[in-house]
Amino acid sequence: MDAPDAVIVGSGPNGLAAAVALAREGWQVAVREGADEIGGGTRTLSLTLPGFLHDHCSGVHPLAAASPFFRTLPLAEHGLRFIEPPAACAHPFDDGTAALLLRSTRETGDTLGQDGHAWRALFDPLAAEFDALAREALGAVLHLPRRPLLLARFGLSALWSARALAEGRFRGPRARALFAGIAAHALRPLEASPTSAFALVLGAAGHAVGWPFPAGGAARIASALASLLAAAGGQVATSSAVTSLAELPAARAVLLDLTPRQVLAVAGGRFPWAYRRALSRFRYGSGAFKVDYALAAPIPWRARECARAGTVHLGGTLDEIAGAARAVASGEMPERPFVLLAQHTLFDPSRAPPGRHTAWAYCHVPHRYSGDAAAALEAQIERFAPGFRDVVLARAGRGPADLERDSPNLVGGDVGAGEASLRQTVFRPAMRANPWSTPLDGLFLCSASTPPGGGVHGMCGYLAARAALRASERGRRWAPPSSGAARG
Ligand SMILES: Cc1cc2nc3c(=O)[nH]c(=O)nc-3n(C[C@H](O)[C@H](O)[C@H](O)COP(=O)(O)OP(=O)(O)OC[C@H]3O[C@@H](n4cnc5c(N)ncnc54)[C@H](O)[C@@H]3O)c2cc1C
Repeated sequence: MDAPDAVIVGSGPNGLAAAVALAREGWQVAVREGADEIGGGTRTLSLTLPGFLHDHCSGVHPLAAASPFFRTLPLAEHGLRFIEPPAACAHPFDDGTAALLLRSTRETGDTLGQDGHAWRALFDPLAAEFDALAREALGAVLHLPRRPLLLARFGLSALWSARALAEGRFRGPRARALFAGIAAHALRPLEASPTSAFALVLGAAGHAVGWPFPAGGAARIASALASLLAAAGGQVATSSAVTSLAELPAARAVLLDLTPRQVLAVAGGRFPWAYRRALSRFRYGSGAFKVDYALAAPIPWRARECARAGTVHLGGTLDEIAGAARAVASGEMPERPFVLLAQHTLFDPSRAPPGRHTAWAYCHVPHRYSGDAAAALEAQIERFAPGFRDVVLARAGRGPADLERDSPNLVGGDVGAGEASLRQTVFRPAMRANPWSTPLDGLFLCSASTPPGGGVHGMCGYLAARAALRASERGRRWAPPSSGAARG
């Protein structure tokens, strides 16, 4: 494309969402992707044995199903079909039972002993108004709420730490553990605010839309977005890494699906000092160690009800999960890490040869952890599924350095594109009224390092595209480095 209206650097879900949002406004959009495949965190690859398909990064997609932007797109017509397991999530215990997150808050409560009523009291109001909650929580963090009362009710609980909320609301270990496991997606100590926000949004999503995943793999999200983009005249070039803004043509806007460290590498010299310093102070979070398995049979869970769930949280009690999260945050590898596991093939047989299965699992590890966490991760699976090792045909483990090599946005193995501290949840990546804009006219950031943050929902890209459209209406354009001037 010789003279695009917009160039997007990076084809992760946010880069593609931004591209689609602009192309649907009639802009000519060119996407440049460094990897030889599109999708970033939504790629599906053959990582173990022939015939087995594994989600390279993201594997479970409640945020994609809930995304206010994705829900406006005809993604089903472009090959995206979500599969919803009967249970969103299972949380097994050492006594051979499990708590389940189900669509029904009442049935969820039935798995939580004495806390069934308290679970319903917390989640019924959020699940009942989930569409409005998703618009508020997955929108710009700083905005005039359309539903102030709902946001106030959510915000009052969301600002608590997950530990304080769980211990304040629930009396027994089962509900506390289920809540803690969901909150642990924040990759932060459970004593920190706003970890409970993660549990409230993901828990409410479990009740309202389930925790589904695409038939065929996460790559179907990327391919559906790319197909929509192509239908609107946009183009994607793979194996086309951008190393400097000087490589890009004049356009109405350039949007970077990159995290601050990479933004500084391609554009840093042109930013005013204050913005450069703000980006260089951006904090990355803990890392992940991922293991993908090819299995001869389904996982032999001791708690049989785990087989109803797409996702299984392996971490035991609230105290144990909180202890592991604290250790990781302070740079130590816990003996018993918190493990997130997905068992796609129980519900999507297309991902493995007949009768065979896959498991997708990762545990939280310290930022840039260089050790091998595979044995500790596998011991957690074996703890709740004795005999698991006997069904393993092959395994492929990747630590923070491998993840970052395959996907440069995963700095130090950080799956969230930046620590989800309270400050970086509100001001992400820097303290600016419009966090997607930069001090350079026509240059925008659209990655998960901008609001609303990590996860496959495309909202960072969509909101960045909206900012670019508004700036273009005011006549602000991207000019290649030789002719542009920075504003403070
Ligand atoms: C192990 C793991 C598990 C996860 N699980 C889930 C999950 O279950 N559910 C969920 O919702 N989220 C999950 N996530 C998070 C999710 O994948 C990310 O939040 C999401 O992909 C962020 O999208 P993005 O577009 O901002 O960035 P990315 O998806 O990281 O895309 C960035 C793209 O930019 C490209 N790029 C980088 N530098 C350049 C350059 N210089 N030039 C050109 N291209 C470049 C990269 O190759 C990449 O394709 C997980 C992440 C990981 C790592």
